[in-house]
Amino acid sequence: MSTIDLLEDSLAHSAPGSSAVGIDAVDVSAWFGSNKVLERVNLSMPPRTVTALIGPSGCGKSTFLRILNRMHESIPSAKMAGEVRLNGEDIYAPTVRITHMRKRIGMVFQKPNPFPAMSIAENVTAGLKLTGTKASRAEKAEIVERCLQRGGLWNEVKDRLDQPGQALSGGQQQRLCIARSLAVNPDVLLMDEPCSALDPTSTRRVEETIAELAPDVTIVIVTHNMQQAARVSQQCAFFLAEQGTPGGIVESGTTKQVFDNPHDPRTSDYVSGRFG
Ligand code: ADP
Ligand code: MG
Repeated sequence: MSTIDLLEDSLAHSAPGSSAVGIDAVDVSAWFGSNKVLERVNLSMPPRTVTALIGPSGCGKSTFLRILNRMHESIPSAKMAGEVRLNGEDIYAPTVRITHMRKRIGMVFQKPNPFPAMSIAENVTAGLKLTGTKASRAEKAEIVERCLQRGGLWNEVKDRLDQPGQALSGGQQQRLCIARSLAVNPDVLLMDEPCSALDPTSTRRVEETIAELAPDVTIVIVTHNMQQAARVSQQCAFFLAEQGTPGGIVESGTTKQVFDNPHDPRTSDYVSGRFG
């Protein structure tokens, strides 16, 4: 069986919300031009787990996330080395199709980015078209409801699905973006500071959504908010780029261990708010 067959086979057999797929980074390094920004990062992000990536600005957290779903390579001058394995399969293997990979590994960004000129419902189903997934009108309606339910937004928007996605509040837009990423039934959801543009109430709502998704979708979240990392994640990795050196992981482990009993004094300083 080829890699594509294996991947498509496992996708076909993962009923909505039943996936248990981990993602592993092995010796991942990254460059922009000649500037090395990540040095041999190793991290296992287990299935059914929320992994939080923490660390000061500029230490390579966003770059690492983009490497996990092959967005890094679309930046001019960007290079990488190492491997990323989804359920054990190298996502950078030459036989793997990028669109297929992006379908399995979704991304939610800091700034909510619903597609302009699209209704709430159209936003949810937009990814189906982009990934070439065919769905009837009835199937689409079902996907819209299911994904908005899972994104924690259905009750607030069910009577106005035809209204523009951009008319929603910031927090609702972010949950719409989560719903949109769920429509293609990803195994992994990457979230890059998804709450940093949101007020505390919306932040709590998104955190509840993350908790509800966690049993079905492997979640990797970058956050600058230590309380948020403690609330939402079970696993945590502390990234740091010391003066003039590429970023790397200082320490990773259970969130409880990293916060309550860090092995490295730099982790201890960071989680207690002494820098960053
Ligand atoms: P973080 O998300 O932890 O703040 P980033 O991954 O955004 O860190 O950045 C890591 C390093 O890579 C920084 O030094 C940053 O300036 C550099 N960098 C990020 N994106 C680009 C880019 N598109 N071109 C050049 N350098 C970049
Ligand atoms: Mg970042």
